[in-house]
Amino acid sequence: MRSSLGDGVLAAPSAEAGARALERLRRVAADPRAELRRIKERTGLMAVGYFDTYLPPELIAAHGVLPFRVPTNGHDDTRAMEYIQGFACPASRNVLDQALRGDLDMLDGALFTRYCDSLRGVFAVWDSEKLTPYVDFVRYPTVTHTQAAVDYLAEELQEVSWRMAGALGAPIDEHRLREAIDAGNRARALLAEFARQRAARELAVPGADALAVLIAFTTMLPDEFTQALAALMAQPPAGEPGDAVPVVLSGVTFDNIDLARTFEDTGLYLIADDLSTGSRLYTVQVGDGDPWQALARAYLTKPPCSVKEPSAARADHLLAQVGASGAAGVVFYLTRFCDTEQVEWPFLRDRLAAEGIPVVLIEGEHRAAGLEQVRTRLEAFREQLEALAEVDDGEGQDGGSE
Ligand code: SF4
Repeated sequence: MRSSLGDGVLAAPSAEAGARALERLRRVAADPRAELRRIKERTGLMAVGYFDTYLPPELIAAHGVLPFRVPTNGHDDTRAMEYIQGFACPASRNVLDQALRGDLDMLDGALFTRYCDSLRGVFAVWDSEKLTPYVDFVRYPTVTHTQAAVDYLAEELQEVSWRMAGALGAPIDEHRLREAIDAGNRARALLAEFARQRAARELAVPGADALAVLIAFTTMLPDEFTQALAALMAQPPAGEPGDAVPVVLSGVTFDNIDLARTFEDTGLYLIADDLSTGSRLYTVQVGDGDPWQALARAYLTKPPCSVKEPSAARADHLLAQVGASGAAGVVFYLTRFCDTEQVEWPFLRDRLAAEGIPVVLIEGEHRAAGLEQVRTRLEAFREQLEALAEVDDGEGQDGGSE
């Protein structure tokens, strides 16, 4: 890949450019809120936060407003506990806590969808406490695979758009909507190619850095993100996983890079993912035609999270990640009190077992607490995978000598 110097002269990318791009993506992921503040200052645009990946950021961008997925930050959530039950999941408590502490005071609005009970509880508090000047709710269908659901969601997105235009004084621009869709498609397509190259061992980037790329994707302006990721892919710094055992990480949102690094410190390599903020998102490509119908169809038919039907499609997607990457097993990260993941877990476990794919369940809160126990379990899992590989090798050699 070549880069333009801006005067029509093309220069070959340098190794430093790849390292610089990775550093930039890491910096963004280390403090996404600071990055949003910088973008706001630079562009003078308003920003609207969202919390789950069924919300099309294109809907926000079409108003000339910055979309920002609010990531968890792993901090204490005592303020949130004053407003919401302790059995709400730690991820939802954390984003509420950020707002209550004023960490999200750069947001001009917030958009929720009918995702899960925990986030609905957060919406109720956010709305009653007026945690942002504008707050709204997209009444998303639970059934995702019918034309009626597409028609309903297309209409709902337009209604939310009209309300947002009025509340923020930011009218919709259909041309900008198409531009936002195209920019989103470009960024997601490149991210999908990045993941394909990692899975095919054509690109050695540690899983913790791949996670940083995912966080940067929902923080940066799409074209700036695409430029940075393209520079990284053109000249990636050395990141050989060595003899680490490749596994797929499965779960919902996963924003804790330190935790991912801990996983990899045990000798595992997060070679691919089945995350709501990862492969279940970047596989989205919004089609042509009426943009509202196209948006509704694309987001409804992406590989489903456990909050949506049908569950079999999630299992198929997870198995596809394992197959494409040649992963030796799956680490299923269950966010504590996440009901829908708890319900889906036995189904996924049984599908993986039927295919002979080892899986380990790690339950946690995306925080540092209990990390030693996690480390021990993952080390045991890695040893199990290595032992299985040795048995396979032995059988292969026996078979070859006959
Ligand atoms: S982890 Fe589960 S319960 Fe928590 S916000 Fe995500 S889907 Fe909802």
